[in-house]
Amino acid sequence: MRSDPPVTAVTVRVPAKVNVQLTVGGRRPDGFHDLANVFLAVGLYDHVTAAPAEGLRLTAEGRDVARVPLDGTNLAARAAVALAKRYGIEPDVHLHIDKAVPVAGGMAGGSADAAGALVACDALWGTGASREELLDLCAELGSDVPFSLVGGAALGLGRGERLTPLEVGGGFHWVFAVAEGGLSTPEVYRECDRLRRAGGGGDLAADLPAPAADPELVAALAAGDPSRLAAVLTNDLQAAAVGLRPELAATLAAGLDGGALAALVSGSGPTCAFLAPSAAAADSLAATLPGRAYAAPAPAPGATIL
Ligand code: ATP
Repeated sequence: MRSDPPVTAVTVRVPAKVNVQLTVGGRRPDGFHDLANVFLAVGLYDHVTAAPAEGLRLTAEGRDVARVPLDGTNLAARAAVALAKRYGIEPDVHLHIDKAVPVAGGMAGGSADAAGALVACDALWGTGASREELLDLCAELGSDVPFSLVGGAALGLGRGERLTPLEVGGGFHWVFAVAEGGLSTPEVYRECDRLRRAGGGGDLAADLPAPAADPELVAALAAGDPSRLAAVLTNDLQAAAVGLRPELAATLAAGLDGGALAALVSGSGPTCAFLAPSAAAADSLAATLPGRAYAAPAPAPGATIL
């Protein structure tokens, strides 16, 4: 049942993510890939504010804002429309996105905004969706969206959307180096398939083992041990991302030279992620890497109403 909506604006904070394990299975007949995707939410946040309006209006500010679409293709707008449709109401809302998560950087910024918009609109409209309903809508919007809602750490199976929460026994300190210009996620998967075929190994689901979580990685997260985690970080999309953007190899090497315990491409890239031994080491690495780099702690909570 719908209660009286509050008239004031609702602001929701949503985290970016890094994939500490991204194992990509073979291409399925429907063109998608099964994944074993271990997500870790990091303390680099977008803020999504929902305010009363007539019709759907979208504005944005912050980093990379020129690359954020302000039409119906924006994932936050799609989230508002999906929630309104589910409850048979009009999507009357002014959504404002304050962006800090790099756009098209493999850090799930658009997914974070979708989860933030769902939670903000639910509170503004008083739709009172249950956690399960919200997770259901998230999965319809995109495979990374459910994790943006829950945060922390989780294993995502299927296309990454079937989540199991994972224990994190301590804090991890990350640095993210933002590459100018994005990478298209579908293009990176196509390149991954191409590299597999070129290597003679086959790229179909039948050619490759079903992806599964690495038990040592799950144990390293549970122990909160950065050195142990550094030894097992893996991203099956990394070779494809570096193949498409060869300059990323130099960025990864610069992070290791600067004291990172490990370096990897974040998701489908082109953002590079570095695991640092301490908060102080992360701050100094962020200051010394060329280009834009940000230090961020993990784990971070999921979508949170402020
Ligand atoms: P993922 O890590 O989930 O693959 P990503 O971080 O690489 O995603 P996003 O920042 O989510 O990429 O953006 C990918 C594309 O989605 C952008 O180029 C942009 O055109 C579009 N987009 C739609 N909604 C948003 C949004 N709210 N913020 C940023 N980009 C958006």
